[in-house]
Amino acid sequence: MVKEKDKAKLRERIQQLELERNQTMAEMERIKASLRYEVEQDTEEGDPDIYEREKSLALLQNLEHKLESIEYALRLAEEGVYGICERCGQPIDPARLKALPHATHCIKCQTELERQARPTLRTPLTEL
Ligand SMILES: [Zn+2]
Repeated sequence: MVKEKDKAKLRERIQQLELERNQTMAEMERIKASLRYEVEQDTEEGDPDIYEREKSLALLQNLEHKLESIEYALRLAEEGVYGICERCGQPIDPARLKALPHATHCIKCQTELERQARPTLRTPLTEL
């Protein structure tokens, strides 16, 4: 059973998640607004701003991905299974959850998953 003290900690994590969700959404809005602004500047080819734009788009994608993870973790929290590794069913290290509240895998599983995912990555950075 979950102890009262642990429940309090969990609530804290969930609050942190909600805070992070709001911050992520605000950051996305800010980037979207700046992208709109740049489009209005009628950028031409070879403009150095295009590089900045690409960076903003990449950042926006990262944030979208992060937001999805946060919302997913919040759904898990609603189901009462937040803080449990989805892969092995073991509790996720509290220190890990503190640093990464939207984590849904323990460090061990995350490392294994990343190792598996790596070979499927296309377009190595050196080819860009
Ligand atoms: Zn695990």
